[in-house]
Amino acid sequence: MKRWVVPVIVFVLTATSWSGRIVRLYDLSQEQVLALLESGYDITSSDARLGFADVMLERGQLDQAALLAPRYEVMPEEWAHLMPESSRAMGYYYDPQENWAFWCGLAAAYPDLADTPASIGQSFEGRDIYVIRLTSTVGADWKPPILFTSLTHAREPGGNSVLIDFAMWLTDNYSSDTMAEWILDNTEVCFVPIVNPDGYEYNMPNGGNQRKNMNFSVPVPSSGIDLNRNYGYMWGYDDYGSSPNPYSETYRGSAAFSEDESQVMRDFTDALDPIASMNYHTYGGHLLFPWAYNNTPTPDQSTFESWGAAMTQYNGYNYGRCGQCLGYNANGDAVDWSYWSGGGHPKMWSFTPEVDDAGFWGGQNDTTLIASFCAECRYMNIWLCMNAPGFVGVEEEESHGIEPSGLSIGSLWPNPVVGTGCFSLSLSSPAGSRVALSLYDLTGRLVADLLDSGVEAGWSVLHAGVPDRVVPGLYVLRASSGQLEDRTLLTVLR
Ligand SMILES: [Zn+2]
Repeated sequence: MKRWVVPVIVFVLTATSWSGRIVRLYDLSQEQVLALLESGYDITSSDARLGFADVMLERGQLDQAALLAPRYEVMPEEWAHLMPESSRAMGYYYDPQENWAFWCGLAAAYPDLADTPASIGQSFEGRDIYVIRLTSTVGADWKPPILFTSLTHAREPGGNSVLIDFAMWLTDNYSSDTMAEWILDNTEVCFVPIVNPDGYEYNMPNGGNQRKNMNFSVPVPSSGIDLNRNYGYMWGYDDYGSSPNPYSETYRGSAAFSEDESQVMRDFTDALDPIASMNYHTYGGHLLFPWAYNNTPTPDQSTFESWGAAMTQYNGYNYGRCGQCLGYNANGDAVDWSYWSGGGHPKMWSFTPEVDDAGFWGGQNDTTLIASFCAECRYMNIWLCMNAPGFVGVEEEESHGIEPSGLSIGSLWPNPVVGTGCFSLSLSSPAGSRVALSLYDLTGRLVADLLDSGVEAGWSVLHAGVPDRVVPGLYVLRASSGQLEDRTLLTVLR
């Protein structure tokens, strides 16, 4: 078979492609996408199911597009970079100063719900990377943390907008929305809105195409390190999922966690022990879960798939592994390292959303576009925050020093409950007794009695079913025995 050949790109010794344009290449096979990667093209998005890939081309390289694909389309100029006519530094995206003002303002407006931004370490150029924690004063001393990050890649401000939107939604609606109240009463939502502050600052104004960090020193010279290829699980697994070339947009650095920014995120995450994370990127309309380093399922594939289906039920995003959705793999990225339990933290349910389909700066002059992709991501965030706490397994609970005293639900699977409605539940009971399982809606109304069964003292596993008449949605599952009770959340899909 004839090997497919692509023109070899000449690496440019500058950090940005100021005049770059994004070109969508249609009707590509997976082999052709891999050949583009191997040749050093900056693939900005791709869709394995629809068979296209977007590449960033310099203005002078646009005539290459016809050589790369039988059919192509030059995407709007603002997809690739900030337009000079905008009077604002980053259009309608929040620039670094506006971010800082927003998060400080949130803490001032909601002192009982939002902490003031706190530094978790410094970037290569000495800028603070900061976290904002949202939780209420109600509830347990320890609440399971859920981590949201954005701007690991400095040219992807869409994810930052989603974090700002979700933080506003949680605080504005805490007093009026059952789900916002439940999330802040039962979890600690942590936002790291700018993982790569040097690159983001560099993009302002009218740059816009710096993806990597600003460490140009190792090796000398380079154009920075791709922080999302610098994490310590399967770092450098192969040269497709990350690049050894210092000028490639996926250059992985000289060693795992060689970079200040990835070290800060590693140490912060290991200290926090989140149960779940959303590492926001743009663009493409995907929800990715592990493994990314190769296209094989994790032991939790069926859970990830059911969560993916539930989380994307309203926005229609593709969900799956990187290789399934994009057609290529990525090694040394945050989502694999987060899920992997061999580091300094327990396994967490980690996702990489790729927001919408408007390039990197597509909403710079269009607030309605930014608002629409914030809205389409909000439900994914809500769903994760409401369901991940029910998935803190027995092992993780014990590792946080929580011993069941009284009746205690350990884990529930599958969740969401799908198809026939059958599920299993592990339950710890202090003494041999009868246990009843009942289902309530979020307003506290009894929906169905599911089970009334005898259990032994200690841990046991119960099997039950959700009746067909129960409509899809989020419910509270209550286990009770005399005066004792415990609750968890259960999602029903049909
Ligand atoms: Zn990215």
